[in-house]
Amino acid sequence: MTQIDLKALITAVADTVAAHAEELTALDQAIGDGDHGLNMKRGFEAVRADADQIAAKPLPEALKAIGTKLVMTVGGASGPLFGTLFIALGKELPAEPDSGGFATAFGKAIEAVAARGKSQLGQKTMLDVLYPVQAAMVAGTSGVEIAIAADAAAEKTVPMKASRGRASFLGDRSIGHMDPGARSVALLVRAVVETVGEDA
Ligand code: ADP
Ligand code: MG
Repeated sequence: MTQIDLKALITAVADTVAAHAEELTALDQAIGDGDHGLNMKRGFEAVRADADQIAAKPLPEALKAIGTKLVMTVGGASGPLFGTLFIALGKELPAEPDSGGFATAFGKAIEAVAARGKSQLGQKTMLDVLYPVQAAMVAGTSGVEIAIAADAAAEKTVPMKASRGRASFLGDRSIGHMDPGARSVALLVRAVVETVGEDA
């Protein structure tokens, strides 16, 4: 994790979010208010615009800067939650983490998201991908397997009934659609894994 090219990572993540913005919007149109794609795109384009400055920082500081930018720009319910994820990860991460240290810090960052969202596993939210991804990291699976686990976890939100966030207003009608935030996390994870490769 020490030799990652942060600028390449930011570019890859922003590219993925931009390429999938319409898909994320469509998912949010089905069980929310249809702004998730635009929210994410606005946020990650703002991060991209600051990529040089961010990439010049040590990894923990860079993650905090990304999180702060996301809080300011994404909006919606997901903005503060994604922001918290990155800020908390920056706070928890040792300066030169190995993969075990990264997984532990990621676990604490997910707890910070859950606390902020007053949410937990199984409520059809981004947490339903974050937790399985962290579990795959702890198990020491390869980057590719982590991305596959993320996709599978996002898929598993389809039959869930939402009990947090806007989708919960739909009750049973939230069943049968993938959660947009869960899909976003899976996209971010795949972009990171494909950029960092097997060194993650
Ligand atoms: P909004 O719901 O305000 O329109 P977005 O559309 O950008 O915001 O984001 C919706 C996503 O945010 C959901 O798909 C879900 O994954 C996530 N989310 C919403 N509320 C919570 C929460 N309390 N805890 C965890 N994730 C949440
Ligand atoms: Mg929305």
